[in-house]
Amino acid sequence: MPTVDATLPRPDATGRYGCYGGRFVPETLMQTLVDLEAEYKKVSADPAFHRELDFLLSDYAGRPTPLWRARRFEESLGGRFQVWLKREDLLHTGAHKINNTLGQALLARRLGKKRIIAETGAGQHGVATATACALLGLGCIVYMGAEDMERQQLNVFRMRLLGAEVRKVTSGSCTLKDATNEALRDWLANCDDTHYIIGSVVGPHPFPMMVRDFQSVIGREAREQILKAEGRLPDHLVACVGGGSNSIGLFHPFYEDADVEFWGVEAEGSGMATGLHAATITAGEVGVFQGSMSYVLQTNDGQITPAHSISAGLDYPGTGPEHSFYADSGRAHYLPVTDELALQALRQMSETEGIIPALETAHAIAQVIRMAPEVKDDAILLVCFSGRGDKDVFSLQKHIQFEE
Ligand SMILES: *Cc1c(COP(=O)(O)O)cnc(C)c1O
Repeated sequence: MPTVDATLPRPDATGRYGCYGGRFVPETLMQTLVDLEAEYKKVSADPAFHRELDFLLSDYAGRPTPLWRARRFEESLGGRFQVWLKREDLLHTGAHKINNTLGQALLARRLGKKRIIAETGAGQHGVATATACALLGLGCIVYMGAEDMERQQLNVFRMRLLGAEVRKVTSGSCTLKDATNEALRDWLANCDDTHYIIGSVVGPHPFPMMVRDFQSVIGREAREQILKAEGRLPDHLVACVGGGSNSIGLFHPFYEDADVEFWGVEAEGSGMATGLHAATITAGEVGVFQGSMSYVLQTNDGQITPAHSISAGLDYPGTGPEHSFYADSGRAHYLPVTDELALQALRQMSETEGIIPALETAHAIAQVIRMAPEVKDDAILLVCFSGRGDKDVFSLQKHIQFEE
């Protein structure tokens, strides 16, 4: 299957989706990005590249992922409509992130770049990057804030087992945005032999487009699978939005299907009124963050404000430029879901289907539960089941107690 469908919307020549996106980077990085875009264009037109990527996605990562009809979950919502789960949680490493890291690592190898850098917050993207690098024999350095390394010791250990070097970042708030700055600094100094794998549809052009292309395999498969199973397109697509890669990967191949409604679910944390949330589109303003223009959580004078969510993967103060564009044009709806509703949804899904979702994914499921009363009879809802919940059991134990 081709990674790029030329009939679907692309950013303009400067990497803009409406006013969003672009390249807000130091002059010295500009040429690197221009070169990367040209090389990506070449590679993505090469059938041999797609054959190799398709092989890795199938035989290594486990694609195609099943599209599962969640009948007992449907029953728990009244049984008036269908709910289908696109099972990205069944992929190697337990989430959709491997779709992107395999694509970019393969791209890097084609470009003759033997050194990979990445930044990671919760460690999920770092693990997926370290995995792809181990497989393809590429050196891997992951920048991670000191604070995050402390909180995510298990993922730090995993990355090291996979042969990656984890570099501790002790500047600023010692979290993701500081790790990103360090990774950019490294790339500036070493771009001749180094490729920077960004983990979501964020950052300067061409990253949002490239990551979107690699993740669109989710929507292309789902579209084919639902047509085969039901002979019609879904009425609603539902996915959680951190940086926005699993959601845009599901949405994009349905972009031209005007009757298919898109629902992006953001993290409301403790609730909008508390200010402790990560609802970037719902409550953010337009600004520049990590090299591109999009909605961001910021103060009046443009300082990025920290995000809060029970789910580490949604705990991000920015969002992709393409989502910002969909939000303004009305192509997609964006709604926030609290920690509490996500936890309830996680339990309801686990008990009815025997599938424990990642806390990120649980936000999308909570939106399905919330919208259930308004969904029309016989509708088809298709949910991106972005990841499995095993990684979250330690933090879940702090919130859920069972009787002895
Ligand atoms: C990282 C992650 C997300 C959020 O990232 P997106 O780029 O918005 O997809 C969602 N779900 C899981 C399981 C993740 O690991």
